[in-house]
Amino acid sequence: MTTRSVVLQTHPYSDTSKILRLLTLDHGPQSVMAKGALRPRSRLSGALEPFSDGSATFYLKPERDLHTLSDFDLREGRQAIGRDLRRYAAASVLCELVLRLAPAERDPVLFDVLIRGLDALLTAGPDRVPGTAVAAIWVLVDVLGFAPDLSGCSRCGDPVEDRGGRLDVREGFLVCERCLPGGAALPASEIRALRSLAAGDVGDQRPPSRQLGLLVEFIRHHAAEGTRLRSLDFLLAEELS
Ligand SMILES: [Zn+2]
Repeated sequence: MTTRSVVLQTHPYSDTSKILRLLTLDHGPQSVMAKGALRPRSRLSGALEPFSDGSATFYLKPERDLHTLSDFDLREGRQAIGRDLRRYAAASVLCELVLRLAPAERDPVLFDVLIRGLDALLTAGPDRVPGTAVAAIWVLVDVLGFAPDLSGCSRCGDPVEDRGGRLDVREGFLVCERCLPGGAALPASEIRALRSLAAGDVGDQRPPSRQLGLLVEFIRHHAAEGTRLRSLDFLLAEELS
């Protein structure tokens, strides 16, 4: 069968072959072996890199978890992402989140959000890369089912528009400054920026490192289940350096 697929990760398997983790449009995440892909004259070499998408042809055996790739018709390579460490770090976070958390079955919305996120990282102007990264990751987190509730204070219902408040990263909701038992509050402008970014709106401003910090902390508590995502640490190091 042939299905549109995004390459999430690749690992060399032997001197000549590699294993690919794919997000397929029709069958969710799948692992395939690309035999001979590392041979210099392979027609698959170059196409089978992370962030590429195309039509993958492989024989899907339900009882197997590794299938043999017979063809990959490249649509978009996106290899320019790898030439910019910030873009690369953010695209790696998208792929790692999908690898860990994608449902086993077909999910066309997730597939579309991943493609859009990768395309946004590929084409964003240099000034907009940090905002694009944070917005794309928030939107993916939302599709994966982990978005925080930013509608208002979870305790008193205050819209948290004027006075600011705090994102309770553990609980995944906002608390207004009045209900805040202490600790540093985010000013209202940061709350607005958080809402925009979480909705996928990059806006005009470069998001301060605080926004990236909130995102990273949130993912650590909710999506990464206590384990560290290597790509997330890398993104944090790149953005703040
Ligand atoms: Zn409150």
